Amino acid sequence: MRKLLLWMARNAWLRDRLPKLWFAKRAVRRFMPGEDPENALDAAGKFRADGITSMFTRLGENITKLEAGDETAQHYLGLMDDIKARDLDGEVSVKLTQLGYDIDVERTLVHASKLAERAAQDDRTLWVDMEGSAYTEGTIAFYERLKAAHPNTGLCLQAYLRRTAADVQRLLPLDPRIRLVKGAYAEPAAIAYQTKHDVDANFVALSVSMLEGMRAGRKVRLGLGTHDVRLIEQIAEHATAMGLPKTSVEVEMLYGIRMDQQRRLAHEGYLVRDLIAYGHAWYPWYMRRLAERPANVMFALRQMIG
Ligand SMILES: Cc1cc2nc3c(=O)[nH]c(=O)nc-3n(C[C@H](O)[C@H](O)[C@H](O)COP(=O)(O)OP(=O)(O)OC[C@H]3O[C@@H](n4cnc5c(N)ncnc54)[C@H](O)[C@@H]3O)c2cc1C
Repeated sequence: MRKLLLWMARNAWLRDRLPKLWFAKRAVRRFMPGEDPENALDAAGKFRADGITSMFTRLGENITKLEAGDETAQHYLGLMDDIKARDLDGEVSVKLTQLGYDIDVERTLVHASKLAERAAQDDRTLWVDMEGSAYTEGTIAFYERLKAAHPNTGLCLQAYLRRTAADVQRLLPLDPRIRLVKGAYAEPAAIAYQTKHDVDANFVALSVSMLEGMRAGRKVRLGLGTHDVRLIEQIAEHATAMGLPKTSVEVEMLYGIRMDQQRRLAHEGYLVRDLIAYGHAWYPWYMRRLAERPANVMFALRQMIG
């Protein structure tokens, strides 16, 4: 089922047709408050009352025209103004292929630099998502350049990739800001752990290596981008045992998933940030959410019929 859903996520024919169907639009509301940025900003305003901060992303990837990347960068600059105007603790996370990375890497760097500069004015971090393995090395090399000029930038790393332990060691000297996730794409066994047990074990090991970096004096900001509460609590226990506060890690979850846990963790003193997606180009992203938990397919079908 997971493989089928991830294949559907990549299928251009389905991508062009499925999102136009009204019942698909209805089902996607489980994971996003709406397609407009205002929907996302309003949702963030509501989370503030629960002590939950936000991260915003406009869905879209692998754009094929340079102008679309320019427009995306402009859009995010405007969004940062809106975040500031609403006095939200909100950060932005972008995909490099949404800024034009497939077409022009240098122009993508110019866009990312502008976004980082704007984020720095409000003392915020600009985050870079991690995409499929064809982009891993390029994205890390890109981040190294971006981070050298803009300390307020962060990168997503994926625990399912075997290479990530080495990538953490490579990035630690830069005082990185890292969002660690399990990984959302279909990757072969040669480069990625395949079982939940192995991915989870690597997730903990990578987190501990970054906590050790913190204890050794590196200025690491570590976001745990997972809904796996057991793992989060396990890593928080490691932090405490190492003499670090619970707040040395930040919990990052997706809008609409485990909201009860997001509120509980925030109530218990964890730093919790909710990633709110919006925009029209939600199809591949939504299919990856279904693939993460095939039980959601039944939920989606019920939404469509009911
Ligand atoms: C803030 C954030 C940013 C992310 N950014 C990226 C990125 O840049 N690149 C990337 O490859 N991946 C990214 N991901 C996705 C990530 O790689 C995983 O695919 C996703 O988080 C599901 O794995 P999990 O860690 O929640 O653990 P799992 O082991 O999949 O799930 C743990 C538990 O969480 C619950 N759960 C998990 N997913 C769902 C769901 N879809 N619906 C309902 N319940 C669910 C279930 O109860 C499950 O038992 C991001 C995730 C988050 C939270």
